[in-house]
Amino acid sequence: MPSATASSISTAAISPPWMKDAVTKMEQELGAKYGRSQQARVNKGVQQVAEFWRAGDGDAAAFEEFVRSNFAGDQAALDSLFNRYEHLLEQLDGHMHEINREFRNQMDLDLGPVLPYDELFGGYDPSAHVIDDFFQNKLAFIALLNFPLTTLEERLQNGPSWTRRQWAEVRLAERFSKRIPADVNLGIFQAEAESGQYIAEYNIWMHHLVDDKGQRLFPPKMRLLSHWNLRDEIKSDYADTKNGLTGQRMIQQVMERIVTQTIPAMVINNPAVDWNPFTNEVRPAAVSDSDVPPATAQKVSNAREPDTRYAMLQRTFYASAKADPYSPTAPTMIARRFDEDREIPEAKVKAMLEQVLTSPLVPQVAKLIQSRLGRPLEPFDIWYNGFRPGNQYSEAQLDAIVAKRFPTAEAYQKDIPNILMKLGFAPDRAQYVADHIVVDPARGSGHAMGANMRSAKAHLRTRVEKNGMNYKGFNIAVHEMGHNVEQTFSLNDVDHTLLQGVPNTAFTEALAMVLQGHDLEILGLQAPDAKSEAEKTLNEFWSTYEISGVAMVDMAVWHWMYDHPQATPKQLNDATVQISKDIWNRYYAPVFQQKDVVLLGIYSHMIDSFMYLPDYPIGHMIAFQVEEQMKKAGAIGPEFERMTKMGDVTPDLWMVNATGKPVGPEALLTATQKALAAVGGGS
Ligand SMILES: [Zn+2]
Repeated sequence: MPSATASSISTAAISPPWMKDAVTKMEQELGAKYGRSQQARVNKGVQQVAEFWRAGDGDAAAFEEFVRSNFAGDQAALDSLFNRYEHLLEQLDGHMHEINREFRNQMDLDLGPVLPYDELFGGYDPSAHVIDDFFQNKLAFIALLNFPLTTLEERLQNGPSWTRRQWAEVRLAERFSKRIPADVNLGIFQAEAESGQYIAEYNIWMHHLVDDKGQRLFPPKMRLLSHWNLRDEIKSDYADTKNGLTGQRMIQQVMERIVTQTIPAMVINNPAVDWNPFTNEVRPAAVSDSDVPPATAQKVSNAREPDTRYAMLQRTFYASAKADPYSPTAPTMIARRFDEDREIPEAKVKAMLEQVLTSPLVPQVAKLIQSRLGRPLEPFDIWYNGFRPGNQYSEAQLDAIVAKRFPTAEAYQKDIPNILMKLGFAPDRAQYVADHIVVDPARGSGHAMGANMRSAKAHLRTRVEKNGMNYKGFNIAVHEMGHNVEQTFSLNDVDHTLLQGVPNTAFTEALAMVLQGHDLEILGLQAPDAKSEAEKTLNEFWSTYEISGVAMVDMAVWHWMYDHPQATPKQLNDATVQISKDIWNRYYAPVFQQKDVVLLGIYSHMIDSFMYLPDYPIGHMIAFQVEEQMKKAGAIGPEFERMTKMGDVTPDLWMVNATGKPVGPEALLTATQKALAAVGGGS
């Protein structure tokens, strides 16, 4: 792929040649005009504009005139500018979001058939070109001239002492911290679509897996998408005492073939052939469970998949690296993920993951799993699913209670104040939140949509069956309502709309899960007992242990790609296999007593999601911190409101305000220790 190598343009090369002199001239001119007190602001602002100014934005005279007439040189001018931007950007975000929401209604709500044009409306994003437009009409440059861009290091170091207004100014400038050309953005979009498509079609036809005796362990028509369905089949196989273990071993073998790319290309998404994943033999299908006719013997081959998995991953890397020169404060994809999206430094994330991976609780929980399984652990037991909260009520009992109470979406809407009061919100605050939420009947299982501007309301989309809501729908509705409650406070009660929201999605998920965890109490039923809570905690801990290693692989692979931009897909394959083994050997082999396992490399997100995986373990940690604080505080309501009014600052600053401590795994580990004691495991 000669056209698709990593970019090597530097920021300096895209700046006009006259820029350096023009910057010096304007720094002096504005410094003389507004005085010493403004000099630092002048220099930073002029340099920020220069960084993003291209030849097409105007010549030296135009640049100078722009800077001269748009610098807010005194506090009054700066206040007006700030207030206008804050108000108008809120309107822009809110109304764009409103258009999006309306355009998607036919697809999202229970409103009858979806026609082809409904999908086109639903797929349209009116805000797609806003940033380009704002550079074009120079509104972005005015913001950059007057408000500071910051690095994550500065936000972490100085953020705690900034005023709220300073924080809002930082978030305002940040919107314009990148000026990525349209063709680069398009390339990223295409790489994402292409790799997503590759993943979406990566099915294994399970009935066509045969063992050495030619036996088929899995039923006809079973088609599992890698890795999600394969992993979930491993989980459900724990319940099958007869064939479960053999099936799990076979799936592990399939996964390893995918990671190492020794999987025969022909067996992917193909019911025309049978495959023995141990010997790697491929034959024409001896049975038929689809419309596809069996392959003929001449056409069958076990030629391996030619590193397509890694070519896809590399494509996402090349595409995103092309944006590097246009993102001066976060000049790599890795930096954009950690410094911008997560706002937790990579080194700190790594340390948090290591704290879980090397925790002395791991061998204790492993021992408990081993005793429950009655056999030594095998590598696929990273997906053990035997920790289960016991249910004191049957699903049918719960369905009946819920259907009676919520026959329609309107019934749920009317009950929101009562629900919130049950969760400890004062009556006036419960009513206030309820007044900001509109309940709509959803087509799917349900979701929440914030308002994004104060003049609009949040939307709760919930599923109501013909004979009323069922328990599953109710449980989801409470979760989604948790998002709406957060959205209401973090938009309407935060002091600056520029700070609306929470630091990242892990926070809103953690808050939603807190409400969801109390759904039985809302129904006036008994809360889950201590034993049941303990099982839930152990399950979360084991998942965090598993996904922490997966996240480490994802991070290491991206570093490898940046270090080896000219590598072939085969070399990336070899490197990923080695990284997966190294991380396994360091953190899992001592527990599983087996070396060189490559399973950690199986996640599909690693191929098409641009280093998204570390969000999962961080999310688990945050959820435990928030939950622990709620328990400490007693009533959920007031604590929920206090936490969410902090808005979109760095995760650590938010968490210190919420719980007194920065983001970290301690709450998860403490809860796990207690859970082990409660179920009588550990030592
Ligand atoms: Zn959610």
